[in-house]
Amino acid sequence: MGLLFELAECLWPSRCLLCEAPCSEGPLCSKHALPQKLSGPRCPRCAGRLPAVIPDGTLCAECRRHPPAFDQTLACWDYWEQPAAREHILAAKHRGSAALWRYLGVRLGEVLSSAAEERPLLVPVPTHLSRKIERGYDWVASLACATAARCDGEVLSALKKIRLTRSQGDPLVADRRRNVRASFGPTARLSLKGRALWLVDDVMTSGATAGECARALRRLGADRVGVCILARANGRRSGGMILAGSKVARPRNHLPEIFDRRVD
Ligand SMILES: [Zn+2]
Ligand SMILES: [Zn+2]
Repeated sequence: MGLLFELAECLWPSRCLLCEAPCSEGPLCSKHALPQKLSGPRCPRCAGRLPAVIPDGTLCAECRRHPPAFDQTLACWDYWEQPAAREHILAAKHRGSAALWRYLGVRLGEVLSSAAEERPLLVPVPTHLSRKIERGYDWVASLACATAARCDGEVLSALKKIRLTRSQGDPLVADRRRNVRASFGPTARLSLKGRALWLVDDVMTSGATAGECARALRRLGADRVGVCILARANGRRSGGMILAGSKVARPRNHLPEIFDRRVD
């Protein structure tokens, strides 16, 4: 087996998942290697960036003022602070690359396995059927499967999107919470009484979608709901400081087109 593998490596050297350049170690070349972990001090509830002077693990002002319906957030990277992560997520979306989603899912599974209970139960944030048809596949479900495989977890598709909503990145959406309110429901008559669950998504911006999903899971009896995401995209830079939970949207032309088309 080892000899066969070495022979295959000589004949067909590994290629970077992003640029397809030959690479000897791992699935990414040195130019496209991803950071090991999330940057800077973080709020444990929403994984939002805290000002550098605030100790890691302090609740952010937004979570103190408006506690979200989820208990904890784990993230691999920061969407704005760690541009390599943004590049990978956008590439996976644009190309519909199953291999790249699998790799990103493995990285998320590593984060989850170091912080969650054994055999965690993962619930993908659902996508409306019409959006699945438009995209051709459900990337969050693919991500959740790869994450579960890495951390020996289980995927439970407990929720479905019951109402088509405007994209959360749409400049016409003034209130993201109102936009997604009552837009998720159970896929079946489920009882999740006393269960601990982890919502899985690719990017979390305001947290409104995750909050709405967490509320739907609590209505089914869930005792504890965590969120695990590839990247956290809250706040905006202003004079070198992150304004956590800021509701000021980035100008539309700062958002890649695929990001604008997100509905969840
Ligand atoms: Zn590369
Ligand atoms: Zn927070």
